[in-house]
Amino acid sequence: MKKKVVKGKEVYTLSNSECDKLFKAEKEAMENTYPNPNSGFAVALMTKKGNVYKGVSYISDTDTLTMHSEATALANAAIHGEKDVIAITGPNCHICKQLIYESTLRSGIDIVIVFKEEGKIKQIPISRMMPYPWPKPNFQEKLDKIKRKKVK
Ligand SMILES: [Zn+2]
Repeated sequence: MKKKVVKGKEVYTLSNSECDKLFKAEKEAMENTYPNPNSGFAVALMTKKGNVYKGVSYISDTDTLTMHSEATALANAAIHGEKDVIAITGPNCHICKQLIYESTLRSGIDIVIVFKEEGKIKQIPISRMMPYPWPKPNFQEKLDKIKRKKVK
């Protein structure tokens, strides 16, 4: 992975082998979609440490409680103490784009969405997929205040 800083945020570019690692993990995760194998969605993400975490959709009988694979992948990484996500497979629904975008506000890393289009690997920073993002900048100040209170 290569790092650069764009508009104050870290943006990573993955090598083709790192992308393939994510695609492979995503495919493997499909076996564990809930409640039935290969019946929902799966993603894989990579953290700054280079670790890969999988996420699967977790379907609820009420539907409203269903968790998308992006949410479970982000939670999976957090459970393992990793919050610095640099890339996640996509494309993603707009609910998940918002969740991924909000993660970037906290980490300072513009998470790259990795997917294939017409057989070619694409790596698009989430900020480019959010032309009119919410929340607005003053909300970021509120988040920063919360972060400063964080105990280390
Ligand atoms: Zn989603």
